[in-house]
Amino acid sequence: MTSDLLAVDGGTPVRNIEQHPWPRWPVFDETEESALLAVLRSGHWWYVDGTCGSAFEREFASFQDAHYGVTCTNGTAALEIALRALGVGCGDEVIVPPYTFIATAAAVLTVGATPVFVDIEADTLNIDAAQIETAITPRTRAIIPAYIAGRPVDLDALLELARRHGLFVVEDAAQAHGAAWRGRRVGAFGDLGTFSFQATKNLNAGEGGILISDNEALADAAWSVMNVGRARTGRWYEHRVLGGNYRITEFQSALLLAQMKRLPDQIALRSQNADILRDLLVRQEGITLPRHDPRITTHAYHLFTFLYRSEAFHGRPIGQFTKALQAEGVPCSTGYVPLYKEGVFARHAAGQGSWCRASRHIDYPNLHLTTCEQVCSTCVWLPQHLLLGGAEDMNVIATAIAKIQRAPL
Ligand SMILES: *Cc1c(COP(=O)(O)O)cnc(C)c1O
Repeated sequence: MTSDLLAVDGGTPVRNIEQHPWPRWPVFDETEESALLAVLRSGHWWYVDGTCGSAFEREFASFQDAHYGVTCTNGTAALEIALRALGVGCGDEVIVPPYTFIATAAAVLTVGATPVFVDIEADTLNIDAAQIETAITPRTRAIIPAYIAGRPVDLDALLELARRHGLFVVEDAAQAHGAAWRGRRVGAFGDLGTFSFQATKNLNAGEGGILISDNEALADAAWSVMNVGRARTGRWYEHRVLGGNYRITEFQSALLLAQMKRLPDQIALRSQNADILRDLLVRQEGITLPRHDPRITTHAYHLFTFLYRSEAFHGRPIGQFTKALQAEGVPCSTGYVPLYKEGVFARHAAGQGSWCRASRHIDYPNLHLTTCEQVCSTCVWLPQHLLLGGAEDMNVIATAIAKIQRAPL
């Protein structure tokens, strides 16, 4: 029995992480070592003359139920490439959520277009499809839903809306490897889908990214932007469109091919543990879990999230709650701030944020999207690798939360 004195106040932690470390991340063994060595020894380290890049593109696209895949340097670049492949640029507007990593909205600025923020739902953390319609103007070209924590957006509503208004959909699935909506994996429901292989993501090569699509012309356009404007069928020194060098290396692709073999089991394990943790927390006073949606047939669980109500914890502010939970041995954080409060958007509002002079003026610093702000001040994130252990690990998390609730402030 653990003492009731909180570890943050000098008590014994629920979990001593020196003695009982959480499952390590990344996961690798000799398989990854020999895959990397094979690339090294082959001398083919380059996307252009190697075989791993194209093999990974095929394998990952097919895993996500898409026809085509185009690798690139990272998830941020993938979003920029997607918008450029779609011809979205200066003067255009793109609808984005305010509760996401900066790249979802920054990519819009990078191509000269204007991000238009639409509020999220507190019980999904994703953009509220029902509120998108009022943000559409004649300049709107695309919507970028981000699948926060690995949870797909309401694709029924979003795709219907996009079709009705003739808008492109770029799925930011950087956190959603393996996530599925009504039995189909995400990424090619819209026009293009983007993924990240940055170190914390559920499929990891340190850095890396991919775009997937069912549209061959769009995949080819993305490939051109990725590969300095070359055409797949063109000559070497023939640059038909403006691109960049966004090529991935063969080391990354070899690592990703090896890591992909682990992915299905990891997805199943995260889901299984998340279900156990949900059951343990569902009746916990002051903790609100995201809404269950049976149309989400696989949740990728890049994060396990819940909303925290301090009144149920003797008024303990959320920052003190996460500190206390960390001290009990449970890694956690409070996550994003509303994106429109970031300095880059204040600069844009002041006319300094974009090279495009035709962009619409939005007074970002005075935006207030109430649900996003409420979520930012109440949401707690647990990282995905906590879900890669056993059921007893889930008990540790629930026990630590209950212990903090009992403790007077
Ligand atoms: C990580 C992430 C990105 C960017 O990916 P990088 O590979 O780090 O550039 C974009 N969108 C979301 C939602 C992310 O979580």
